Amino acid sequence: MNEGLSSIGIDVGGTKLLCGIVKADGSILTVRQAETRASHLLSDMEALVADAQAEARGLGLAVAGIGIGMKGAIDPRAGKLVRSITLGLADLDITGVLRNRSGLSAWIENDVHAATLGELKFGLGRKHRDFIMFNAGTGIAAGYVLDGRLHVGASGTAGEIGHMVVCGDLDLRCSCGRSGCLEDLIHRSRRGEQIAIASHEALKDVPIAYQLLALALTNLINAFNPSAVACMGGMLMNNAPMIDILDQTVRLMALYPAAEALAPIVPAYGGYQAGLLGAASLPFLYTDTGGRDAALKQGVNHVEAGRLYP
Ligand SMILES: [Zn+2]
Repeated sequence: MNEGLSSIGIDVGGTKLLCGIVKADGSILTVRQAETRASHLLSDMEALVADAQAEARGLGLAVAGIGIGMKGAIDPRAGKLVRSITLGLADLDITGVLRNRSGLSAWIENDVHAATLGELKFGLGRKHRDFIMFNAGTGIAAGYVLDGRLHVGASGTAGEIGHMVVCGDLDLRCSCGRSGCLEDLIHRSRRGEQIAIASHEALKDVPIAYQLLALALTNLINAFNPSAVACMGGMLMNNAPMIDILDQTVRLMALYPAAEALAPIVPAYGGYQAGLLGAASLPFLYTDTGGRDAALKQGVNHVEAGRLYP
């Protein structure tokens, strides 16, 4: 591993931008934060990158590139934001702008896919070929690593489990226009609305929002048979008691062979910085491998510090 190699990661959230320099061993050296201003998004990102480039020079580090993780509809092949409903933005060539300004390569992925790639490179991926990144924050989503590769799906939206239908009540209308979606029920429950679900005896004293998480995760475990699960997002970060409850109850509810194969559920390797670390992992994973598609096809966990390993 090249000790002097680093990357610049940018985690674009709905309210804040995080930009950091990360070394090839996963250590985060610097983090800068700015408010997310939709009207100035590109210029604010350019300014953060320019600061990070100067800091990297000061530290004597080469920069492999820029990685961006962003919530919303992303076209990673074109390097563009297709649409962000929360920011009211569409059709932005984010990587093109940053590349032109910085002279560095740049990649962008959906935020949870980027975080999953970070976990693949620096965390669970070191030991597991099949794992799930379970994100429970403002949004509910998952990333799947299947046989050592991030599974993105036919149109790149794999893992949008927030809109998994878990209740047939047509009055519970979700923002997506359909009804009975997991994320909407969790939001309603956390706002204090009464949501009635039939759950497992072991969950009867657990808040409904967490019962819903346990049901959803059990279904994912049955569907994908992972050997490990990492958690991220505000509902589960710094919440070891709830992660323990999730761990115990999914084992009671999942099919026996699936539960038996599962290692203890853990917080994401990057903790609160899982999104930033994931964004910063992209240049390490995609540099010198023929780009994103080739890297995904080859199994990006075989890529170390920009080099493809057999
Ligand atoms: Zn929905």
